[in-house]
Amino acid sequence: MELTKEQFIQDFEKTLTDKYAKPLIQAGQQEIFQSLADVVKSYYAPIWQEDLAYKDESQKKQAYYFSIEFLPGQMLKSNLLNLGIMDTVREALSDLNVSLDELAEVEPDMAIGNGGLGRLASCFMDSLASKGLPGNGNGIRYRYGLFKQKIIDGYQCELPDSWLDNGNPWEVRRPEQAVEVTFGGEVWLEDDGKGSLKPHYRDQERVLAVPYDNPMVGYENSTVNNMCLWRSEIPEDLDVRFQNLDYMNQTAQLSAELYPDDSNYDGRLLRLKQEYFFVSAGLQRILKHYKKHIKAPISQIHEYVAVHINDTHPALCVPEFMRLLIDDWGLAWEQAWEITVKVMSYTNHTILPEAMEKWPEDMVQNLLPRVYQIILEIDRRRTKDLLPKVGPTLVHSTRIVKDGQIHMAHLSIIGSHSTNGVAKLHSDLIKDVVLHDFYTIYPERFNNKTNGIAERRWLQISNEKLSSLIDETIGRAWRHDLNELVLLKNYKDNPDFLSQLQAVKKADKVRLAEVIKERNDIEVNTEAIFDVQVKRLHAYKRQLLNVLHIMKLYFDIKDDPSIDIYPRVFIFGSKAAPGYHYAKSIIKAINEIANLINNDTDVAGRLKIVFMENYNVSLAEYIIPAADVSEQISLASKEASGTSNMKLMLNGALTMATLDGANIEIKDAVGDENIFIFGLTKDEVYDYYARGDYNAHDIYKSNPVLNRILNAFRDGTIPNIANEGPEIFASLTTYNDEYFVLRDFDDYVRAQAEVEALYRDQTAWTKASLANIANAGRFSSDRTVQEYADDIWYIKANKA
Ligand SMILES: *Cc1c(COP(=O)(O)O)cnc(C)c1O
Repeated sequence: MELTKEQFIQDFEKTLTDKYAKPLIQAGQQEIFQSLADVVKSYYAPIWQEDLAYKDESQKKQAYYFSIEFLPGQMLKSNLLNLGIMDTVREALSDLNVSLDELAEVEPDMAIGNGGLGRLASCFMDSLASKGLPGNGNGIRYRYGLFKQKIIDGYQCELPDSWLDNGNPWEVRRPEQAVEVTFGGEVWLEDDGKGSLKPHYRDQERVLAVPYDNPMVGYENSTVNNMCLWRSEIPEDLDVRFQNLDYMNQTAQLSAELYPDDSNYDGRLLRLKQEYFFVSAGLQRILKHYKKHIKAPISQIHEYVAVHINDTHPALCVPEFMRLLIDDWGLAWEQAWEITVKVMSYTNHTILPEAMEKWPEDMVQNLLPRVYQIILEIDRRRTKDLLPKVGPTLVHSTRIVKDGQIHMAHLSIIGSHSTNGVAKLHSDLIKDVVLHDFYTIYPERFNNKTNGIAERRWLQISNEKLSSLIDETIGRAWRHDLNELVLLKNYKDNPDFLSQLQAVKKADKVRLAEVIKERNDIEVNTEAIFDVQVKRLHAYKRQLLNVLHIMKLYFDIKDDPSIDIYPRVFIFGSKAAPGYHYAKSIIKAINEIANLINNDTDVAGRLKIVFMENYNVSLAEYIIPAADVSEQISLASKEASGTSNMKLMLNGALTMATLDGANIEIKDAVGDENIFIFGLTKDEVYDYYARGDYNAHDIYKSNPVLNRILNAFRDGTIPNIANEGPEIFASLTTYNDEYFVLRDFDDYVRAQAEVEALYRDQTAWTKASLANIANAGRFSSDRTVQEYADDIWYIKANKA
């Protein structure tokens, strides 16, 4: 949009007065931030209104991305950048003696997601809007987001994330569009006299779902999409007899808290309730919109609406859409089913068996009696149809309801026309191994959509210095099409450019070093290699492998303090699920190892370990630009895609990688000479499983380096881990090292030595760094969402 400094200052000062009756000099940061946000809102609101009206009138197909998590982070800079007014506003504020960067810190992260899954959903929201694609989000407006992590005595403590205390300035509450969601009670079917069965209900618990619309501003393209987040409330007309404290609490709880575990699904009623809550509310809103604005009959809804099931949490979309079509719209089963399959599509995000979501049948039956009937009927009809075609073995292995459980992945695949994995390797594993029986029955449904990241946040906003350097070198076109970055390759032998690239990295490291000094009170050497592993803490991600390597370097120094070791700063950022005991033990161990090594005079500052607390999107925006090395060291076959690998690559870090997830595609993009590959391959891992002959204890016994390191966990060498040390030791030896940490250790050490060698040649390193930046274009989520739009949703850009 067009905006002059003068106009902005006028708008800003007026808003501050209107809101707080204060002049700028008396206003606090919070008041200034809120006023600025209101001004920005006044800029996008007219575009938003126009887009909403356009979508009502244009009769164009829209996609709805259902996700139980979103992880947008802070929105101020994102909105300014995408509106094209970042520089104007920054300069105008600076004229008023206000720092935009400091002000932006006032905004709490919108952290209504756990990690990669939620962040992907938010990158998609940014990309959909930035490509002008009509794609909406649908989720839950959790009152408390992902817990805030505090490290006390090396332990993770969890504090509530009360992010809404000062309100969310961007959202719009729309009570007039509230819908009702019901739970429990009894349901029975009665003939309606016209030959069909109609459900009747008794004693249902009623909850009001109120939508809050959040603007998803597109990048310099006058598009504002919608992300709808639902809040649970008590219906106004609720009979006082039902308004007891239990009910009130339960209703409030539905949108109170994000489930803070991103991989294990213990049977939890509240979680199931949340899933149904936002699914039912979202689908009801879509159908109301359809009724009001779309001129075609309901039987054509698949030509106007695509619903995406992001992981299995929204899998109830399938039976709930059936319920609405049959019970409310009067469609026959066959027709409703055909439409449902065409409307729905599904992304699988993990193949870890403990993360495959299942719900006990009786729980679903009690909580959602009508939906349960429909699930049984879907399963019954499919079994009957398929038995003669594919035989009992395949039918049984792919059933939705079996062994007293409802299998949510099965429901999602059977009830949709598309199932995709999130990187090539992952999609192959789905087809060949994990969901092979489904692939046999429905081969045409399976496809790959390699994940991506929104370069607006992960480069333009978080790394302004690198962005400016790129502008000066190849112009601005890359800001609209990340593939343009390949033009940087022309500068790989240009010493001026390479030294400027080094200077940018150095400046980003200095900036991070200041944050580390302030938050951790640790001095780090900005000439050192910044070696970064930031991601949720999980055994399969193998933060422990990183730790064992650090211990190896430590012992090398202890054995010979004069050894020539290139200085390194190891930076960790990681939250553990509150109930994940082992992950929390690893955090404690990292912190104690940091204490040991950071303060050892023999080490003399050559190694520093920094565990940054409360890893979240805004902290990632500081850490990632400063990284030299990106640790992507999960056991091959376990990480579906990864996205921090892409963010780090885009910012010029070199990847230390196993052949897992999207690392393989990163390797293909940058070439073998610009990445460090080590470790078992997926096939080697599966061979071990097939033979069943992995023996971690043998490695512990026979490898003297590892022997010494592992002993350090239980002989007091690493202090203050009397409980955690032996636990970690046992998991790696007695319990046979589930993720082959010991097996991959030697090769990891070899590859890490290559890192050090290459880093000593700064020109060679910087060229490799450049190759990573220049080849990152394909990992833009703009590319990913365009593939979803073309191959899965069949939607076209608004103004196309
Ligand atoms: C990108 C991101 C993740 C995902 O990291 P992976 O290494 O891909 O698991 C998690 N948390 C935050 C805050 C992120 O920005």
